[in-house]
Amino acid sequence: MITAARERVYVALGSNIGDRAAQLAHARRRLSELPGTRVVAVSKVEETAPIGPVPQDPYLNQMVLIETTLGPDELLRQCRTIEAERGRERRERWGPRTLDLDIVRYGERTVQEANLTIPHPELPNRDFWRREIAELEAMHHA
Ligand code: ADP
Ligand code: MG
Repeated sequence: MITAARERVYVALGSNIGDRAAQLAHARRRLSELPGTRVVAVSKVEETAPIGPVPQDPYLNQMVLIETTLGPDELLRQCRTIEAERGRERRERWGPRTLDLDIVRYGERTVQEANLTIPHPELPNRDFWRREIAELEAMHHA
C-alpha cells in the first residue's frame, strides 16, 4: 500500500464574534475529523487585542498542531469550508470574524501561491502565535 507522507502542520484559530470558545471548539473537532488528519496537540486559548485599523472586539486564539496527509491546497480548502460552517463572512481585510483558520507552518515547506503563503506572512509579527508554537514544540519536540 502506498501512503502519502504525513506532515506536521500548525493551524491558528481565531474568533471575535459570537460564542468564541464554541467557534474554536468547532474548528478543533472538524480538523480532527478531516481525512488523513489527526490533532496532535492544542495550545492554551489566549485572548488578544485586535490587530489593524478596524475597531472590533478582542479575539480568542489557539494554535492546533495536526498531522495530515492532505496537501497545503486541500487543507486550505477544508479550512475555508470550516470557516463557512460558522457563518464566516469576508467583508473587509482585518475585520471581525466568527472563525478564522490560518495555516501558519506546514512541515518545512514554503509555498508562494496567489492564495496561499506558507509560512504565514504574519508569523514574524504575532508574538502570540510564536508563543503558542513554542508551547506545542516543548510538548512534542517537533
Ligand atoms: P486574514 O488574512 O485576516 O486571515 P482571511 O482569513 O480572509 O484574512 O484570508 C484571506 C486569504 O488569505 C484566504 O482566502 C487565503 O487564500 C489567503 N491565505 C494566504 N496564505 C494563507 C495561509 N497560510 N493560511 C490561510 N489563508 C491564507
Ligand atoms: Mg485567515
